[in-house]
Amino acid sequence: MRVALVTMALRLPTDQSRWITVPPQGYAGIHWVVSNQLDGLLALGHEVFLLGAPGTVPASPAVTVVDAGEIEDMHAWLNGPGASVVDVVHDFSCGQIDPDRLPEGMAYLSTHHLTGRPKYPRNCVYASYAQRAQAGNDVAPVVRISVNPARYTFRAEKDDYLLYLGRISEWKGAYQAAAFAAAAGRRLVVAGPSWEEDYLARILRDFGDTVDVVGEVGAERRLDLISRATAMTVLSQSTMGPWGVVWCEPGSTVVSEAAVCGTPVIGSPNGCLAEIVPHVGTVVPEGSAFTREQARGVVAGLPGPHAVRAAALEQWDHVVLAKEFEAIYHDVLAGRTWT
Ligand code: UDP
Repeated sequence: MRVALVTMALRLPTDQSRWITVPPQGYAGIHWVVSNQLDGLLALGHEVFLLGAPGTVPASPAVTVVDAGEIEDMHAWLNGPGASVVDVVHDFSCGQIDPDRLPEGMAYLSTHHLTGRPKYPRNCVYASYAQRAQAGNDVAPVVRISVNPARYTFRAEKDDYLLYLGRISEWKGAYQAAAFAAAAGRRLVVAGPSWEEDYLARILRDFGDTVDVVGEVGAERRLDLISRATAMTVLSQSTMGPWGVVWCEPGSTVVSEAAVCGTPVIGSPNGCLAEIVPHVGTVVPEGSAFTREQARGVVAGLPGPHAVRAAALEQWDHVVLAKEFEAIYHDVLAGRTWT
């Protein structure tokens, strides 16, 4: 098949003249999701046209990087001659593409990566049952976030730190991760961009002896941090999130990433985490009231690196999940629709 993959088009925060690529230069969950899906489609022999990420270096001759990042440019390409060979449009842009502006009869589906209702619910696939329920839907397909093991590093020997990797925001639970690490008597490496300075200041005030804030990481540094950690902490909180709705963790890219590196996950039960963390780690309550015994017991009882990686590969391998999407593409081509 010829698949047009549309990522959410975002400019690099540090250089507005460039786009975030696939895979991304640093922090960017959706771009990693698209990267792993693209790898899966290539492994199945499909051809991909990538929109929304100009500047991406194509992973193979089967990938065409379309020079369209602006929303109008993406719509123009999808309505132009270049798109006439496309069999199906798979849209990860979370509302940048309006399906009603596509050519009549063009096969289309989207994958939702935000909290709350998708802007265009037609043919929308969700990353978890919790995310789907929050969107008020109980019929749409659910496909987990995939991971291509070749893009990650497995390590069986771990260092003694816990890791927080992501945007340092209230709803992502960096503060609770610091509280957990303090109770467990472990150092917490905090990696990611910080756009809420007051929040970071609160973490440093309360847990300055526990946290080691290293800023945003990419490339080898990111893989090294993930693969050496005793555990990844994903203590997402059901507090008010960025889109005016209570945060329900949609799919959590870092869970499959950690697991494929053999790093177990300590997660809250918020959103998708209650569904996916038990396969590769331990769920602990929301909030920051962890006792020393509880936190140390959780760390001591985590599954081992080989078991965690095996579980990740069984459920979230990029080829396994690309096959699930391939089946949905065939359904859409056969005329199936859902909202
Ligand atoms: N990430 C990164 N560098 C950082 C922090 C995060 O590359 O300094 C990546 C991380 O590996 C993951 C993504 O950014 O792929 C965050 O995605 P997630 O779904 O966990 O969070 P969200 O998209 O909700 O912020």
